[in-house]
Order: sequence, then structure tokens, then C-alpha cells
Amino acid sequence: MKPEMRRIGAHVSAAGGVQNAPLNAIEIGAKAFAFFTKNQRQWKSKALTTEQIDGFLANMEKGGFRPEDVLPHDSYLINLGHPEIEAREKSVNAFIDELQRCKQLGLVYLNFHPGSHLRKIEEEACLDLIAESINYALDQTSDVIAVIENTSGQGSNLGYRFEHLAHIIDKVEDKSRIAVCLDTCHTFTAGYDLRTRETYDETMNAFDEIVGFEYLKGMHINDSKPGLGSRVDRHHSLGKGELGLDPFNFIINDDRIKDIPLVLETIEPAIWPEEIQMLYGMMGKQ
Ligand SMILES: [Zn+2]
Ligand SMILES: [Zn+2]
Repeated sequence: MKPEMRRIGAHVSAAGGVQNAPLNAIEIGAKAFAFFTKNQRQWKSKALTTEQIDGFLANMEKGGFRPEDVLPHDSYLINLGHPEIEAREKSVNAFIDELQRCKQLGLVYLNFHPGSHLRKIEEEACLDLIAESINYALDQTSDVIAVIENTSGQGSNLGYRFEHLAHIIDKVEDKSRIAVCLDTCHTFTAGYDLRTRETYDETMNAFDEIVGFEYLKGMHINDSKPGLGSRVDRHHSLGKGELGLDPFNFIINDDRIKDIPLVLETIEPAIWPEEIQMLYGMMGKQ
């Protein structure tokens, strides 16, 4: 695979307006990026202005970013599997708003965490609710693909087993608008090892068998503070945590992983330029 086929970047700030996200990505030498299209800790936010949208599109072009190089992340407040109907409806409506914002920005993905059962319903019932919420939201919108992220399984969060992702995909009616993002820290802390050639292949083969690489449209590239199977979500800078550098080398040189956004969510934004360069430097070094 040619170096330009790897789309490596980071989750950048959109402070001051969404139009700044691609500029912040250009600044760190990124070929892909993630960002929040609204304040991720608030339910309500102002509609995007024409000025912001035009600025965003101009800066996308400036950085040579294609829509599929961008993986916007939804608000942390949204829980599509909330056991209570009113709270779930609030989440679905916010999710629809996020899908529409992505569409306004000419983007094709919206990355989200599946949801949590809050210890009030069974896992399977919650997964069914999540799929139902996604079906409703996709029905009310067009084009944008809902990209489920796997989780560490902290608290009552679902999505920590590949089977959870497969369960949701299975129940989503429009398969062309559902996809998956694998987070390396979440994968590892959920109990899937990636640290050796053997365990990496075992984990990725299991993913392929249960979910399928055809659904993989993005990855979050993070080292992990907690250990294997800890079910705790704490990212670390590459090579400084429990994963070490080998898993990232395997990913960068894995031909099953196509030219999808590989997005750093590591804890020290100041070293993102070096982390991006280090990852590009791993190409072909296996
Ligand atoms: Zn992530
Ligand atoms: Zn995380």
C-alpha cells in the first residue's frame, strides 16, 4: 500500500466554529480528522451558519480532505439505548440533529458510542433499542452513515463485544448506512489483545468473522493506560501505555484496513504531529 493511502490524523478542536477543524488538522500534518460539530457536553446548540458551512468546505479543500477522511463524533450525552422512553427520544432527536449537521457539512459519517442499559434492562434488550433508535434516525435523514464505535465496556456501556456490534448491524434495516469504528484502547481494555502478531491476528480475524472488515470505516488510534480486559476507558500517548508500539505497526501495514480515517485520541495534543509522523514512518517496516 502506498503511503498516501493511509489517512492518519487526530480528533481536533472546533473551537471558534466548525470551519476551524480542517485548519487545525492541516496544522498537525493530518490527512484525516475527527471533531465535534457542536458542544459535546450540551443538548442544545445553535444551527450551523452559512458562513461556517462555506468556511468548512473551503478549508476541507485547502487540506485536500475528502468527506470520507472525516469522522465527526456525536455528543457524549446521547444514549440510543436508554431504557426510559422519554430520555431515549431526547437522545434520538439529538442524534438526528447531529446526522443533519454532518450532511450540511457535506460529510458522510457520524461516529457514536452504542449506548448503555444503566443496569435497568438486559444487554440484548438494550441492543434492540439501539438498533430501533438507529432505524428511526436513518429514516428521518439521508445519506450520512452511522458509525458505531466499540467500547471498553466501562459501567453499563454496550459495544465491548464484537457480537454487540454484529447484533446492532443485523437489526439495522439499511445496511448501506451502518458501519463500525474500532478504537484500539477500547478493543484492548474490552479484553481483545493486540500486542503480538499472534494476538493481533486472532483479534482481527475474530472481528472479520463476527462483524466483517467491509463495515470498518474508521479507527481510533490510542494506547491504553489500563490493562487488557480492565473494562476501563483511559487513553494514553502511543508507546507510553500497556499496548506499546507493535499494534500500531500491525495496523499501519494491514492491507485489510483500507484508506479509512485513522484518528488519534491520545492525551497529549502537543505531540500529535510527531505521533502522526511516527505512524507514517511505520509503513512498510514490518
Ligand atoms: Zn475512540
Ligand atoms: Zn475512549
